[in-house]
Amino acid sequence: MGGVRNGDVSFWWHQVGRPSPSDVLVGDTSCDVAIVGGGLTGLWAAFYLHEADPSLDIRVLEAEFAGFGASGRNGGWLSSELAGSASTYAEVAGEAGVDRLRAALRASVDEVIGVADREGIDADIVRSGVLTVARSRAQAERLDGELTAEQVADRIRVAGAVSGHFDPDCARVHPAKLVSGVARVVRDRGVRVHEGTRVTSVEPGRVRTERGTVRAPVVLRCLEGFTAGLAGHRRDWLPMNSALVVTEPLSADQWRAVGWSGEELLGDEAHAYCYAQRTADGRIAMGGRGVPYRFGSRTDDDGRTQRWTVESLRATLTALFPALEGIGLDHAWCGVLGVPRDWSASVSFDPTTGLGHAGGYVGSGLTATNLAGRTLRDLVLGRDTDLTALPWTGHHVRRWEPEPLRWLGVHALYRLYRAADRREDAGLARTSRIARVADRVAGR
Ligand SMILES: Cc1cc2nc3c(=O)[nH]c(=O)nc-3n(C[C@H](O)[C@H](O)[C@H](O)COP(=O)(O)OP(=O)(O)OC[C@H]3O[C@@H](n4cnc5c(N)ncnc54)[C@H](O)[C@@H]3O)c2cc1C
Repeated sequence: MGGVRNGDVSFWWHQVGRPSPSDVLVGDTSCDVAIVGGGLTGLWAAFYLHEADPSLDIRVLEAEFAGFGASGRNGGWLSSELAGSASTYAEVAGEAGVDRLRAALRASVDEVIGVADREGIDADIVRSGVLTVARSRAQAERLDGELTAEQVADRIRVAGAVSGHFDPDCARVHPAKLVSGVARVVRDRGVRVHEGTRVTSVEPGRVRTERGTVRAPVVLRCLEGFTAGLAGHRRDWLPMNSALVVTEPLSADQWRAVGWSGEELLGDEAHAYCYAQRTADGRIAMGGRGVPYRFGSRTDDDGRTQRWTVESLRATLTALFPALEGIGLDHAWCGVLGVPRDWSASVSFDPTTGLGHAGGYVGSGLTATNLAGRTLRDLVLGRDTDLTALPWTGHHVRRWEPEPLRWLGVHALYRLYRAADRREDAGLARTSRIARVADRVAGR
């Protein structure tokens, strides 16, 4: 991988400078609300709870620094994509409930942009929409897009694109700038963010950390892909891996060759899909699944990813844009997102124990964290609102299988999805049966 910086949390953090943990917890303390995890779920919950009741003593407990996890490593798609499975939500709330969740997510894209505007968070945000392309007949059938191959090429010249769909309800963001901005705002308002403070266990009224114990009547678990690391939660959500690479800045000629003159995000309809953004400083950041899961629900080492993943993302990049053959990659990294057994997110709070949680957004968490943060606010404050009536509120899900079944299952699943993609790329007219089998194995 000569020349490709690997890990170092993410390119985004490398660009803005990796922060040192601050306000480390010193000894035992108490507060009104203890939030475990300083990603966007925890920070948005703190933001909205403080806004609703500034007298609350709110503490965020973060093992490394705010934004160390997926919130500071993601692809920067602030999208209205459903965080979870429509059919699962429909089982509890019908199609109307799914529509309400979709509408709430769409509104959340504007909510995030609005807060960023008001609070002076400069996160390279452009409400540019997202272009999804189909690169085979089977992908086209699934996507059912309104754009012809020519119309796709007018936006971005993706090799082999046969059709496309444009969704305007999506914004491009710089993840580290967004999460550090939200962290700055909550700190300025008086919320204490105790970084370098790893939580070891959570129980009603008490959070134990390596630095002391925090007593609080309300404890919110906001750990997403890191949940498995907490005592008693190993099989709750599977830490699914996703990885990105970022190119060196493209020359004007290279941008012309790929025909990507706008800021729209770009994705495809493969089962092992890719996602990309044009960064504010003129690079392409492209992500995909890579090695999906590490045995025993382990997470990564400071964002370092495998050589195989880097080469596979390089191959995807040049398959989409042959004109970029040989382009330098400056950075590669990975992170974990939380996948519940039914691939659907949940936001919960039990007023009798004071315990709550939110997450399991399955890769569509950037916007969902904001909606979840506002929903946690309403649940904690005992408000009955449109948000608390969304189908993901109080959603229960069974646990994942023990190892080695978990590892074998997830790896088999992604082998099946990749095999389905190969068949579809070879000319299959419809979604491969292999993918349908994989969906059934996955429980999607
Ligand atoms: C590579 C990648 C690309 C993605 N791309 C997109 C995208 O483009 N669009 C989109 O919508 N979603 C995307 N996602 C998903 C999205 O980023 C996440 O769903 C979202 O950021 C989750 O936020 P969170 O606050 O719940 O979790 P996180 O941001 O992961 O925060 C959890 C925090 O908990 C901390 N922590 C861990 N263990 C402990 C402990 N024991 N004690 C205290 N703190 C602890 C971690 O350090 C971390 O800061 C992507 C995810 C990944 C990994």
